[in-house]
Amino acid sequence: AMQYPEFIWQNGRIKPWAEATTHVMSHALHYGSSVFEGIRCYDTPSGPQIFRLTDHNRRLFQSAKIYDMAMPYTLAEINAACREVIRANKLRKAYLRPLAYRGLGGFGLSAETPTDVTVASWEMGPYLGPDVLERGIDACVSSWQRFAPNTIPAGAKAGGNYLSGQLIAREARRLGFGEGIALASTGLLSEGAGENLFLVFDGALHTTPVASAILNGITRHSVITLARDNGIAVVERDLPREYLYLCDELFMVGTAAEITPIRSVDGKPVGDGKPGALTGRIQELFFGLFQGKTPDKYGWLEPLDA
Ligand code: PMP
Repeated sequence: AMQYPEFIWQNGRIKPWAEATTHVMSHALHYGSSVFEGIRCYDTPSGPQIFRLTDHNRRLFQSAKIYDMAMPYTLAEINAACREVIRANKLRKAYLRPLAYRGLGGFGLSAETPTDVTVASWEMGPYLGPDVLERGIDACVSSWQRFAPNTIPAGAKAGGNYLSGQLIAREARRLGFGEGIALASTGLLSEGAGENLFLVFDGALHTTPVASAILNGITRHSVITLARDNGIAVVERDLPREYLYLCDELFMVGTAAEITPIRSVDGKPVGDGKPGALTGRIQELFFGLFQGKTPDKYGWLEPLDA
């Protein structure tokens, strides 16, 4: 069972974990009207650093904007809350979960409710299980498609989107796979339940475009930037399902999943069925940021104690 942290930030202050309650008639609980982020803090040689804290919280405000959700705090205040809750829990390595949701104040779909905001932090290892970063996972293509454009916006990181993610992830686990990959409504590749996809062909990275019902991932952007700066070509393009079986290497990326190799899809080995060399190089560049080996030319590391 999960070991809960001692403290959480809720509506402006740090409180004991058990006191961060909400009413059962909160709008978000009924209609999925919440927006959130997932952020990691790494313990680096230069002290604890929150990876792209400001970019994540900017996306939180963008998600709120899409849903006309009034944010009662500024970006700087949410950044400060993130730092405060990690310090309160005395963590150096942490996963952060800022969440803003329509609270109690009306039951109609268009009700103007207050926005409640919380930020939790806890210790989290590799999301898809122990050893997956080294060994890779076995993935499957989901029988569930991602939502079509102009239905539910994939560019917002909203609670309701994760009904789709739950269907994809739960089906994959039920069938014995490590994660599920969804196709877009076009029938072309989209992304994993909670991760963006990279395929390798002839030494170049290929990743699906934002038009394919994906979340505009911050890890995806980081991988594209690191690859290009290190002479690795990156192509954003739509690809049909069968290219999952034909690529030389395959991996999924996200804040929780970090850089997770995929060693098979639908029971077919990817390449020689082991994490590939370019995947290893991307892992080295990405994790190197937190080991002081990859120079942070981008200002992505935001110190915990700022
Ligand atoms: N796609 C989905 C559906 C996700 O939930 C996530 C995790 N936030 C990602 C992609 C990866 O995004 P990021 O790298 O910003 O965490």
